[in-house]
Amino acid sequence: MHATSRRSAPSGRSSATDLLEGLDPEQRAAVVAPRGPVCVLAGAGTGKTRTVTRRIAHLVTGGHVAANQVLAVTFTSRAAGEMRTRLRELGAAGGADPSCGSVQARTFHAAALRQLRYFWPRVIGDSSWQLLDRKFPAVRQAAQHARASTDPDSVRDFAAEIEWAKSCLIAPDDYAAAIAEEGRDSPAPPEIFTRVYQNYEQLKVSGDTMLLDFDDLLIFTAAALEENAVIAEEFRDRYRSFLVDEYQDVTPLQQRLLDTWLGARDDLTVVGDANQTIYSFTGASPAYLLNFSRRFPEATVVRLVRDYRSTPEVVTLANRVIGAAKGRIAGMRLDLIGQRPSGPDPEFVSFDDEVSEAAGIAGRVKKLLQRGVPASEIAILFRINAQSEVYEEALTEAGISFQVRGGEGFFSRSEIKQAMSALRAAAERNDLPGDAMLSQVVRAVLAPIGLTESPPAGQQARERWESLAALERLADDLAETHEGLTLRQLAGELDERAASRQPPVVDGVTLASLHAAKGLEWDAVFLAGLTDGTLPISHALGDRDGTGAESAIEEERRLFYVGVTRAREHLTLTWALARGEGGRKTRKPSRFLTPLLPADAVARSKGGTGAKGVQKSSRDTLDSAGEDRFERLRAWRLEKARELNVPAYVVFTDATLTAIAARQPADNRTLGMIPGIGAAKLERFGADVLTVVNDSVRQR
Ligand code: ATP
Ligand code: MG
Repeated sequence: MHATSRRSAPSGRSSATDLLEGLDPEQRAAVVAPRGPVCVLAGAGTGKTRTVTRRIAHLVTGGHVAANQVLAVTFTSRAAGEMRTRLRELGAAGGADPSCGSVQARTFHAAALRQLRYFWPRVIGDSSWQLLDRKFPAVRQAAQHARASTDPDSVRDFAAEIEWAKSCLIAPDDYAAAIAEEGRDSPAPPEIFTRVYQNYEQLKVSGDTMLLDFDDLLIFTAAALEENAVIAEEFRDRYRSFLVDEYQDVTPLQQRLLDTWLGARDDLTVVGDANQTIYSFTGASPAYLLNFSRRFPEATVVRLVRDYRSTPEVVTLANRVIGAAKGRIAGMRLDLIGQRPSGPDPEFVSFDDEVSEAAGIAGRVKKLLQRGVPASEIAILFRINAQSEVYEEALTEAGISFQVRGGEGFFSRSEIKQAMSALRAAAERNDLPGDAMLSQVVRAVLAPIGLTESPPAGQQARERWESLAALERLADDLAETHEGLTLRQLAGELDERAASRQPPVVDGVTLASLHAAKGLEWDAVFLAGLTDGTLPISHALGDRDGTGAESAIEEERRLFYVGVTRAREHLTLTWALARGEGGRKTRKPSRFLTPLLPADAVARSKGGTGAKGVQKSSRDTLDSAGEDRFERLRAWRLEKARELNVPAYVVFTDATLTAIAARQPADNRTLGMIPGIGAAKLERFGADVLTVVNDSVRQR
């Protein structure tokens, strides 16, 4: 060892060499690239976020740019928080030297809000403004003035459509033409919606205090920089280096803001994965990521394919999921190469109904906890927030603590609060004696809140409907188990359940929608409710013209891909053939699953026998001696893989090891007859394998 070898820097600060440790050559190239345009195009789990945070730390600690001149942006406050944590660990945020401040890692909205507060007096002068963080009442009023529908679902759809239009930089007057060109459905006849949109925009500026919604923050900030040279100059002097994580989900409005931040400069690093584009419905587009090197021909472009997050088993499945994708975005995919040692095969499990599915998952979670997997390393992911109820219930029953992320807990949802107070009010008016009528009464009370016969179209409306349907099911279950239950007792029972749900705990099992899980990772992931109509969601299957429907389905497929790639080690995919207990098994497993399932599993689940554990891994067929041999072979494989610095499956797959364990080959000839063992492998590993098998036979 050299006397001059560098010691690691004191805590909180990393030295330049530390910052390059644990990076592969491509990651390193992106980290050390000189200031200027850099684009990292890479699949899930390949270290994009790691690369972007290391790059920031490298730029700052290397003295290339002052910490407070760096602005890193991403899309959710959780992702921004995660970035700040990683930067702090690297010594680049909240840095040790207070005189140069710290790197700002924020969402686009938070960054714009801060800038607008600062520049406002110079842009607008004395008039004050307020953030409109709940736009529902304003949109409702706008709809009323436009004589459009004001039922809550329509108002929600209008609000979402206004957000989409603003994110796409479409002004009210241009709306009708723009959707005609895109072939997009409007939530109302276009001329009516245009009026709603116009009224809404007017309403915000008609009072003494101007109201700005979240999109206005971006619009006003961009306008301030575009129209006021002094402000632009001050801003650009202050911020010099920009970085964006998850760039595939940038909207035209966010891009416009980013462009005004940059001005004529090009100090911009972007990282993203077009195959994880899951926010198209808000106007986000991967085009900016894909066209980055056309816009900046001198950009350093790096592609990462080594997956450091997941076992080869999970990576193989992920490659198959995205391998089936169609369209332009899919053309950009790269096959991931798993870097971690081998782990368990992903498990596919079919259940009779949703309650058994939830109970089955809770049981498996319990087993993982007993085996020492921390609760905070386990997640149950689903397509829409409303699906969380049945899992909250099952986990509560199993005494497992959890947190609901990116949405509130079931009983905090506004339609559920509304439904419960309606049930209480109905009970006050007329507390029916309990009998078979109770279910009907509940249905009648929930109908005006949105529990229609079949699920409505539209994301928001569908979520509301799903949670009301879940409440109805819960009421039915209670009526069945508590004979003679009255309406008042039912309301009381629901209140009690709401109160007994554990308050959110930080280290519990995570329940989250797939959208909220983006960028995150857990040791064990359950992808639940994988039926056709839920994933892909029914409105993606709608009766749109061919291209619209295909792109909607492709976005659902990417969502599935995001889900699969959250798992480090354990991945379980589940679905239920019926909704309620004893219900008709009318559901089908997700169309995305069918090509992944073992053939006999499809046959069985199609036959509606409700076969559980459709994938019975052939390892289950080993007797205990075989199991022992398998474990020895696996240990040998792990050592070998480490020695050769390759993923374990490159040595042998689980299936091959299972076959070896079962057949106990005694010589090279019998070993060579096992599928997966060709001449090359026989020569490289044959002697080793025979020794392991031989030892295990002798020692028993
Ligand atoms: P996503 O597309 O899901 O956002 P990502 O590309 O941003 O994924 P990261 O979250 O940065 O990936 O990294 C995935 C995991 O792999 C993390 O646990 C990270 O610490 C680890 N990792 C990344 N690069 C390396 C590396 N070179 N060596 C070891 N581990 C790594
Ligand atoms: Mg990431």
